[in-house]
This record gives sequence, structure tokens and C-alpha cells, in this order.
Amino acid sequence: MQEIEGAGILRVGLQSAGTKVYFPYHIDDQFSGVLSVSYPFSLDERALRLLPPIGVGVAAFLAQLCLARRLVLEFPSSPEMVEGILPVMEMLYDIRCWRDQLELMPLPEISLIEPNHNPIPFVTDSSKIACLIWSGGKDSTLSHILLTKNGFQVLPVHFSVNARAEQAEMRAVAHLAQVLGITYQTVEFDFPQYLDIARRYAGLWDIFPDYNVVPFGRDLVLTLLAMPLAQHYGVTYLCMGHEHGSRTSYLDYQGKRIARDDVESIKGGQLIEAYMQKFISPTARFFPPVAGLPEFRILHELHTKYPTVAPHISFCFWGAPCGRCSKCLRHYLVQRVLGIEGLVHFQANPLEGDNCPDLLHCIDNWQQDEGRSYTDMVLYCLAKLVERGDVRPTEYLLRRFEDEIYPHIADSVGQMYDRIMKVHTDPQVPPDFQIN
Ligand SMILES: [Zn+2]
Repeated sequence: MQEIEGAGILRVGLQSAGTKVYFPYHIDDQFSGVLSVSYPFSLDERALRLLPPIGVGVAAFLAQLCLARRLVLEFPSSPEMVEGILPVMEMLYDIRCWRDQLELMPLPEISLIEPNHNPIPFVTDSSKIACLIWSGGKDSTLSHILLTKNGFQVLPVHFSVNARAEQAEMRAVAHLAQVLGITYQTVEFDFPQYLDIARRYAGLWDIFPDYNVVPFGRDLVLTLLAMPLAQHYGVTYLCMGHEHGSRTSYLDYQGKRIARDDVESIKGGQLIEAYMQKFISPTARFFPPVAGLPEFRILHELHTKYPTVAPHISFCFWGAPCGRCSKCLRHYLVQRVLGIEGLVHFQANPLEGDNCPDLLHCIDNWQQDEGRSYTDMVLYCLAKLVERGDVRPTEYLLRRFEDEIYPHIADSVGQMYDRIMKVHTDPQVPPDFQIN
């Protein structure tokens, strides 16, 4: 077990003025700062009433980031809100412990300075208006396309949230908006100490190219922070681009079943929806439009049906396509298999030499991971390259795959394709939602 000491005490406050909301925090005597959000409009009385339940979610996010042992909410809240967020917090603490191979830890003790807040939820008329959190990646972009095709009025909102990929994502949404002929809104998310805090309380984190800097629980925060927009525009459906793999990926750790992608899991989506409905809007629905689609299917749809959109998608964990992270590996492979190599310029070929540690991991562990959509996708693509004789001299891992693995899976490549193209049902996707 590693030595990572969680924070003793985290205090979180809440203030607002005009278009901005501030969450000041103190973590022991280590960090003091503010996480702030700037909306495209001034928050009115009704929006201000939503802030306490949003603040409880932001506090849960900050608590997992520093693995706080005690959390003090210095703004109006209630024991019911805390109880509502605890199951989400547990998911986040659990996955944090797994990532750094720590002993699973109990949730923090939580103190409420003003515990008698009664939230005043807003009600919508359930018309097909969707607020889509739009990063400029493949999942949220295909979500936009599918929502529109299904007759939803879509309000895309971009949060400037992803450290390192922030500029690449901003460029992506600007280009994609032009290609798709849509307008979007931006919410400025500002958390200057994020990288320092995260680094202080985590081990396997921010190590290129294996461990990216996307925080656990990010989508909990984004969903809740989008609620003032939902209220402003009468939005019933809050949409995020959570795909089938993230929705269904679980692992067993120290006798406990843990969602690999925390709030992107089905359980996470259901917990967020229950929290929103209880404290923010009883008519709100959490709706991930591509939740039934595996990652390969999503990339396949975008590249074959929307070829003018695909080149502008943002995907690398590190901003410019590095060619060395796991995301780059998958995008590179799909493009090469679909015969559109060169569509995007990668700084390195992930198949060459030992550029991509994740490819090595897939090859070393293919037997135990076969059948999982992520591994199936990589194995399928490698198999297609072998079948085409497209194995290049410096691609020694591909050659190793050809010699050691391909003979074992040659007969099941067709079944793999069926699995990675299969459309699944999902409890948070309406059964009449068309994906074609
Ligand atoms: Zn990359």
C-alpha cells in the first residue's frame, strides 16, 4: 500500500455575484483558494436558490480530490442533501483508492454550519429541450447529432474545464460548431490550484502518457453546474456523452464492486438523476444519448456517416494528438482500419516502437481482458491490419501480435466486430431513441 495521506479537514464556502459563483475552500493549512464558475448571464433569484444543492456536489468533488477526512460546509445546506450526495461520494472515494492502490477508506465526517436550508426546485414542462455538456469529443458530438435527429432542441454548453486539453477542446467546439451550423454557450470554469491539489493527494496521476489529469467526479460537478442553464432555458433533459463502455465498466477491489468510470456508470447516472430530482428539479432527466453505443461504434458512425465532422473531434488526453496515450491509440487504430490514415496528424505512431504503453498492456493482458469492449476494439483493429498485411517494419508490437495472438483469435474476429458494433439498451435512454 502506498503512503498517501488524505487531508485532515476541508472547508467549502459559497458566494455569488452577477454572472459568477465562487466556491472558496481551505484544505488544512496546505491550500486556500477559489473554484469559480462564470455563466453567460446574471443569476436571478430563482437561480441563486439552486446554488446550495450544487455547492454540496462541488464540495463532494473537492473532498475526493484531497481525500478529506472531515468536510465542513460553510453555506446553507441540509442533512438530506448530504445524505443524497453520499452514495456518489462513496463511488469517488472508492475509485480514488483503487487508482492508487490504497486501503478503501470511510467517508469523511461532514459538518453543516447552516443545516436548515430548504431547496426550492424548479419544474419544466417536459418538452424535448436538452442541455448537452459538449466537450468537442466524439461522444458528446455524436450525442448532439443524434439528439437533433430525434427532434430535440439542443442547447450545447462547453465548460472550459479539462486541464491540458482545454485549448484543444475550445478549438474543437469552435470548428465543430461551424461544421454543424450550431451555436453554443461557454461556461468559464476556473480552478487555478487544481493541478497542485490533485498532485498533492494522488500517486498515479499526471504521468505522461499513462495517467491523465481528468479528475474523478468531473461529470458530477458539470451536471450540477449546468442546472442554472437548465432552469434559465426550461431544459428537462441534461445530456452527457457517456458511452456504453464507461456505463458498464466495473472492477472488484478489496471485496467491493467499484464503477471504473465513477459517475459515468449507469449507477452514477442514476444517483445524479435522483439527486437532481430531489433537490433541483423533479422533472429533470439525466440522459446520455450514446449510452447504448460502444466506443468503436461511435467512432465508426462519425467517420463513415459524418466525415466532415470527424476530423475536428478533440480526443487526446494531453491536448495535441500525442500518439502515445490510450485515447490516441484507439483513434489512430480506427482511422487506419477505416482507411483514413492521415485524417488527423499524430505526433507519433502509437504502433511504432514502444510509443504507446497502453498497447503493450493490451497485448500482455489480452487473454484476461478479451470480451471487454475496449480490448475487443484494439484486438479487432490489430487483427484487421494483420489480415491486410499492413504490418510495418518498426511496428514490432503489431508483429508480436501477429505471431503470438492473432492465431488464437483469427476465428473470432467476426464475433469481435459484432460485439464492438452492437447497440445496447440502457435504462436512461428512452427506448424509442433512434441511433441511425
Ligand atoms: Zn494522446
